[in-house]
Amino acid sequence: GESPEPDEGPQGALAADPPLAPTEAFLAELAEESQQLESATPQEILAWAVQRFAPKFSMATAFGPEGMTIIHMLSEVAPETPIFNLETGYQFKETLELRERVKDRYGIEVEFKRPELSVQQYEALNGGPVYKTEPNRCCFDRKLTVLKKAAKGLHAWASAIRRDQSPDRAKAPIVGWDKKFQLVKISPLANSTKSDVWRMITDHDIPYNTLHDQGYPSVGCWPCTRVVGLGEDERAGRWTGFEKTECGLHN
Ligand code: SF4
Repeated sequence: GESPEPDEGPQGALAADPPLAPTEAFLAELAEESQQLESATPQEILAWAVQRFAPKFSMATAFGPEGMTIIHMLSEVAPETPIFNLETGYQFKETLELRERVKDRYGIEVEFKRPELSVQQYEALNGGPVYKTEPNRCCFDRKLTVLKKAAKGLHAWASAIRRDQSPDRAKAPIVGWDKKFQLVKISPLANSTKSDVWRMITDHDIPYNTLHDQGYPSVGCWPCTRVVGLGEDERAGRWTGFEKTECGLHN
């Protein structure tokens, strides 16, 4: 985009809104801050993120259990934080209803961000559902492109990842540079376990996706999610039959 004007006053600097650049010094600073936050609670990490990056701090959520706890914490720490959901057009009705329940409970309106083409237009253009034959392309078109656009105006976002979710996620820093989206990624739940998350949901009566009570540990779009058997990896129910376990948003 536009390069920022030098020598502008505080207001001008804000208006110019330069994107953050991953200079060596900035990355070193983030690594140090991440290290210092290793022993902080998720609430403290979120409060730090808000103080450091708001109003250029946001969160994308698919309304999973982890995301719901972050929404709950943000409602206490910084309810004005913008939160958005990638509305692919293929989400379960239970997921869409959860957005309404969040509004009722917290007064927070999670913004739907949608791809340019509706599902009908997209399928018509491609001669049928793309998820059936090319889920990577479908995710690219209906999630990644939308997310990239959303990331453009931000300096940082919260991610709901936990280190114990997968070997890929085990090394996630609490604060790190998100190369793919060119902003700071903050993972307040990095050190939390699945049971920490569910304990918080139960203790605070946090709304959650009712599909979790029907055998779906991880809920994505309906065409690409199935019930997972006992003892299976919790993401095994996503993109069954494809060499694909992530939507390409986290690596
Ligand atoms: Fe398409 Fe499935 Fe990806 Fe959703 S999860 S965007 S339906 S491929």
